[in-house]
Amino acid sequence: MSKITPVTQPFLPPLEEFIPLLEQVWDNKWLTNNGPFHQEFEQALCDYLGVKHISLFTNGTIALVTALQALRVTGEVITTPYSFVATSHSLLWNDLTPVFVDVELDSFNIDPSKIEAAITDKTTAIMAVHCYANPCKMDEIQRIADIYGLKVIYDAAHSFGVSQQDKTILNNGDLSILSFHATKVFNTFEGGAIISSSLQLKQRIDYLKNFGFADEVTVTAPGINGKMSEINAAFGLLQLKYIDGVINKRQEIDSVYRAALTDIPGITLPPVNAEVTSNYSYFPILVTDDFPVSRDELYQAFRQQDIHARRYFYPLISDMPMYKALPSSDVKRLGNAKYLSDRVLCLPIFSDITVEQQQAVINVIRSV
Ligand SMILES: *Cc1c(COP(=O)(O)O)cnc(C)c1O
Repeated sequence: MSKITPVTQPFLPPLEEFIPLLEQVWDNKWLTNNGPFHQEFEQALCDYLGVKHISLFTNGTIALVTALQALRVTGEVITTPYSFVATSHSLLWNDLTPVFVDVELDSFNIDPSKIEAAITDKTTAIMAVHCYANPCKMDEIQRIADIYGLKVIYDAAHSFGVSQQDKTILNNGDLSILSFHATKVFNTFEGGAIISSSLQLKQRIDYLKNFGFADEVTVTAPGINGKMSEINAAFGLLQLKYIDGVINKRQEIDSVYRAALTDIPGITLPPVNAEVTSNYSYFPILVTDDFPVSRDELYQAFRQQDIHARRYFYPLISDMPMYKALPSSDVKRLGNAKYLSDRVLCLPIFSDITVEQQQAVINVIRSV
């Protein structure tokens, strides 16, 4: 084991509890295509998350790509430049044009007050991200969508188990997408899901993730192969037993950071929303101009101690070569996103972080 402290480390349940599940997969000889573990995991997730319809996927990116297909989105899609690249890549994979709208400084999320100005006669959808699991202003987004007849897709890759006023945020919009990638709060090694607002939509999504097959001889659309395997589903079922403990542990780590870093001039801590039950998936600090060194210098100071803090999200999606030429990528219109992208640093947060590791992170910030 290296002594490197990563920004995140996957939670793994005890291996001996996974072996009997693997033996069942071997006995069943049903490896994929909606097998028994797949069905059980879908139901267990519906119960745990408080949602009605879920479709499991091989990963979150294919889920995003499929969600756009399922809703027959065309033309232009309003989205945020402040996210992981997969959000916008899913648009390009569907031959759609991203239209970037700036974010709010306090929530890191798309600013609903700037959406209307970006709507054209080609706009058919809004793809918003609950960044770091902070819920978007969903009522305002839906109000605009309803006026202009737009679909709403939430990239909820960060938002497993998050609720607002005791209601899951995953039932908003037409579809929400989860990622179960190894780096996320809840992982199935690789994996993802779409939460649908209706059974009809779930059905279409289930066809689309299986090449478009509706039955043995009927192919309804040029679907993709996005199916989750039985091994990942069995692993997910086991992970569900541990997720509450994992989130509680992350909450403790979050509290330790807040207590230790609260009074440092130039460091802004991530927002707290009393209405929201978080999953503590990230701990993004802002290194503002009042701090003695820049964000990148602090990042380097961490690297020297073998601590891999991450500049999520830098660079902005709109600054990447395949997006830079778009009119909406003009940085003058994305001032908040640019400001955040130049100053944010995500500190290590994962359930197995040791007291010493976390203290080392705090010491680096305190000692510059
Ligand atoms: C992780 C992530 C994705 C992609 O999910 P994968 O399961 O890795 O394909 C998409 N959007 C956001 C915001 C993410 O953080």
